[in-house]
Amino acid sequence: MNDDQSVAGPPETFPGSLVRLQELAHNLWWSWKPEARRLFETLDPTLWRLSHHNPVKLLQDMKPERLAALAEDPAFIRQYSAVLKTYDEYMASKGTWYATQYPTISNGTIAYFSAEFGLHNSIPIYSGGLGILAGDHCKEASDLGIPLVGIGFMYPQGYFHQRITPEGWQEAVYEPVNRLELPIHQVIMPSGAPCQVQIEMGNRTVSALVWHVRVGRVVLYLIDTDVPDNAPTDRELSARLYGGDQEVRLCQEILLGIGGVRVLRALGLSPTVWHANEGHAAFLTLERIRELVLAGHTHADASELVRHSTVFTTHTPVPAGHDVFPTHLIERYFHGYWDQLGLTREAFLRLGEHPDLPEAGFNMTALAMRMSAHLNGVSREHGRISRTMWRSLWPGLPQDLVPIRSITNGIHVPTWIAPEMHHLYSKYLGPDWADRSDDPAVWHRVTEIPDGELWAVRQTLKRKLISFIRERARAGWVQGHLEASQVLAAGTLLDPEALTIGFARRFATYKRATLLFSDLERLKDLLQNRWRPVQIVFAGKAHPADEPARYFIHQVYNFCKDHGLGGHIAFLKNYDMHLAKFLVQGVDVWLNTPRPPMEASGTSGQKAALNGAPHLSVLDGWWHEGYDGANGWAIPLPTDLHDPHALDAHDAEHLYRIIEQDVVPLYYDRDRDGIPRGWIQIVKDAIRTVAPRFCARRMVKEYMQLSYAPATARPPTAW
Ligand SMILES: *Cc1c(COP(=O)(O)O)cnc(C)c1O
Repeated sequence: MNDDQSVAGPPETFPGSLVRLQELAHNLWWSWKPEARRLFETLDPTLWRLSHHNPVKLLQDMKPERLAALAEDPAFIRQYSAVLKTYDEYMASKGTWYATQYPTISNGTIAYFSAEFGLHNSIPIYSGGLGILAGDHCKEASDLGIPLVGIGFMYPQGYFHQRITPEGWQEAVYEPVNRLELPIHQVIMPSGAPCQVQIEMGNRTVSALVWHVRVGRVVLYLIDTDVPDNAPTDRELSARLYGGDQEVRLCQEILLGIGGVRVLRALGLSPTVWHANEGHAAFLTLERIRELVLAGHTHADASELVRHSTVFTTHTPVPAGHDVFPTHLIERYFHGYWDQLGLTREAFLRLGEHPDLPEAGFNMTALAMRMSAHLNGVSREHGRISRTMWRSLWPGLPQDLVPIRSITNGIHVPTWIAPEMHHLYSKYLGPDWADRSDDPAVWHRVTEIPDGELWAVRQTLKRKLISFIRERARAGWVQGHLEASQVLAAGTLLDPEALTIGFARRFATYKRATLLFSDLERLKDLLQNRWRPVQIVFAGKAHPADEPARYFIHQVYNFCKDHGLGGHIAFLKNYDMHLAKFLVQGVDVWLNTPRPPMEASGTSGQKAALNGAPHLSVLDGWWHEGYDGANGWAIPLPTDLHDPHALDAHDAEHLYRIIEQDVVPLYYDRDRDGIPRGWIQIVKDAIRTVAPRFCARRMVKEYMQLSYAPATARPPTAW
């Protein structure tokens, strides 16, 4: 592949000396480098805001005169050159962690397959936590110098935009994305032709084009079926993330798994490790067996080679979260395929059989578990639950020997940290703190930050959040999108002095967004307290087909408009990475109330803690291992998890009690300087204990040490 040919030339009017702005705009590295973000903002602060921080669009919309003037401005040129220097050094660095730790395997590519990647808002190819995790994984791999390539989808219809009717019903609106405004380029082969692959789908063949995105040193390839050769339904195949029925979904997974392998081959890549992020990509294992069988291996040998080089991460303890396809669909799409693997129909179907539910259909997680030698769940507790859930795949093995380990999720610190906190940490943790974010000794120095300084930054961040919320509400009103009662619900009356609790996540019912409303009188006492008021900010989308979740939004929204509660509760629409940053950085407490043990890990509370907002959560997911008694608050697990009503009542009672007796008094207990010393103590404990353990640096290093390195350390194959 020749990259240079795929970089669109700058418009005629682009000043020659600024041409590398295009290159910076097309590498998401800028999104986690404060100085690069500032550079784009300097170009035109208004257009920067109007483009929703999309530098590709910003550069398209800029007036040539403005660019010409900047090209002559010595201060700007200094700023631009300094950013380019940092960028070039980053891209060329030979002394990365990976290069130092793994000098002997340095050219072994790791292919990371995921149905979604949450990199930045300007590239709409994620829906929630799974995608954000994949995005953070790629960014951290880049920072560590790990030779990773990503494989995912281009979704031409992007995200759904969440509208809320005045009655509080979520409506999903899809807007086609303009590929020219995204930081992507079509992949062009040395011949000058676009890179295109063919994938058989039952009786038809689907063509796919490939785009690439640069994420620092990592390249991500996106499969796009919106190609003129394809039938209209096939052009729509990759249009939406998780949009279609079961058959569309099966076709998407064939595209990702089988198509993804073909894309890598078309690009001339021979990864040594293959990582399937969730079961969606599990067909990649079959395609690799097919290649090996075609090259003369027996099925058994091929399957062993594939197993040893495949890593699989499972992400949910919820049974419905695992894809299971009915046998007739599998037959329709694979009847010409199993022969090529050296398998009979029965043997093929057995690869996807759940031993406890043999009649249920073809289970993608079962396939991935059978075909990968390196398996993990995403928190310690989730690892344990996964060993129980899948133990029948290893009959005869005691449960604790089931080979599913855990690698707890973590967050990419440079992506999620507020610039103001970054500044504070640079001042007190030492200049190299960001490169050592997984070192507990670095975070120990948090105790040295003066309370008053930390408190002042926390207050600033909350004021920023609240002005952002008010500005959005104001704009919604001015543009006629909101009715008067909705302006209230959108948060215009929030008080920057009040204790602010944040709750933002997908509105799946198991996340129990309405738990806090189970005793309205008790809630009103908290919100309407004149001296020690509490306010709550909600955000989140429901899957458009999830009626109970839409109903949850309806309920929460109507509380926001209610006279007794309105003004103290806000619902912010369109929860995405942009809004998430303001929330995790600006609220005082991050609330998390999943029904245990449904939360595999969760990461939003980690983002909040990094920024000094302690976690108040059910002991589930990452909090199970993160809570130490002093770094936040935990709703204890009841002895009986089986009766959902009793569980909800138990958890609600504890939740109210913690807010009333611990959180509120501590927050409002100020000394003579107006500083809540006890509160700041918890904030510091949260930062100190959460940041080093739940950062992506620790996570990706563990993937490297526990999975990628062993998967690479195999006798070299022809692949
Ligand atoms: C971090 C994040 C998530 C995942 O958070 P959870 O704790 O798993 O709910 C989802 N969506 C967005 C936009 C995020 O930033």
